[in-house]
Amino acid sequence: MGALPSLLDPRSVIVLAGLMGVMMALVMFFMRRSYPASIRGLSEWALAPLLAFTSTMLFAARDYLPDFLTIVVANVVLFQACILYYSGSQKFLLGSSDTRGWTLLNGLIGLSMFWFSTVKPDFEARLLIVTFAVSLLFFAHALLYLRHRPRVFGQPLMIGLLLAQAAVAALRFVSVVLGMAGSNLMDGNWIQSLYISMYSFSVLLLSISVILMATDRVHTEFEYLATRDSLTGALNRRALLDACRGAFASDRRHMALLMVDLDHFKDVNDRFGHQMGDKVLREAVRRMQRAVGDAGVLGRYGGEEFVVLLPGTGQVEAMAIAARLKQAIGEPFGADSPMAEVGSIAVSIGVATNDGGRGVDEVLARADAALYKAKAMGRDQVIAAA
Ligand code: GH3
Ligand code: MG
Ligand code: MG
Repeated sequence: MGALPSLLDPRSVIVLAGLMGVMMALVMFFMRRSYPASIRGLSEWALAPLLAFTSTMLFAARDYLPDFLTIVVANVVLFQACILYYSGSQKFLLGSSDTRGWTLLNGLIGLSMFWFSTVKPDFEARLLIVTFAVSLLFFAHALLYLRHRPRVFGQPLMIGLLLAQAAVAALRFVSVVLGMAGSNLMDGNWIQSLYISMYSFSVLLLSISVILMATDRVHTEFEYLATRDSLTGALNRRALLDACRGAFASDRRHMALLMVDLDHFKDVNDRFGHQMGDKVLREAVRRMQRAVGDAGVLGRYGGEEFVVLLPGTGQVEAMAIAARLKQAIGEPFGADSPMAEVGSIAVSIGVATNDGGRGVDEVLARADAALYKAKAMGRDQVIAAA
């Protein structure tokens, strides 16, 4: 039918697609070695194109190898490749994977392929079964991304590809229902060509979108690690000061800084051990973050000293937030808490604002001076800069 089929000789397309798949698998295997273990799914995504390649070679060997290999095994391996891609996505998005239902379906596909090739040969029935299953799986795969909407670069490409795959498989299914199946896989009608070309490009594009997503996530993770204090998860000193400079430079009228220091924290370490001290620090940060909420940004300035940046906040509101912070941190640890034996901890807080256009360093120094005063006056209190 027309020039397209001769242009896209199915066998060549299939072989080329397979080779592209192998190259992508190589890329993925090397990526997996250099990427942090926290990026899940890469093994599955690397293995999937290899399986696809194996099935591709089997499909291309139609008439040269026994039908059992080029029909039954080829289809089962192909569907397993699709399952592996899906499993990789589950791990990437959810951290774990469960594809038992799909694997069971693949077993049924194998049985039916055997039935409709050896016992009762029927190309149409085989096509209907495979295109239906493939369409279903790609649709479920797309749905997984739509449901979890990871904010990663490459995700729209992934969803588009999966939906296109599902649509083309569904179209092929419909064409068979309408009696346009052709007589076998190598019989070139345009839907068959579209189906096969789509498959070839998908192997390549799926791998590319997967690489984009994984790379984006690595970037995000590294950025997180570079800006966070590893013990408490609060911003580290550098990121905190960057945030302060950025906020002050953005020329808001009001800007407040709280300098928070745990009282007699050395005693906690001395009496209960350094590990307990770490736990208390983490809990203190959790409480501060809860108390500050969206009103500001919390960073670890030094050992047990924290700074809260409050953009758009004046003196009165800053004092109120500081009082809330002090109260939240001072809440006694519950009897079932791992910190129960510590009882409770107290903090001193210095508050300063940028009235009169003071710069970051000046406001920080003023907050520090106020904190020093709070300590000198007996701790466990909030003092505003003079
Ligand atoms: P003050 O009321 O004057 O602030 O007394 P303090 O004991 O809290 O002050 P000081 O600065 O003398 O001691 C701070 C202590 O904080 C000393 C240090 O061992 C402890 N510290 C700093 N960073 C950490 C940490 O990451 N983990 C633990 N467990 N302790 C820390
Ligand atoms: Mg202290
Ligand atoms: Mg201190």
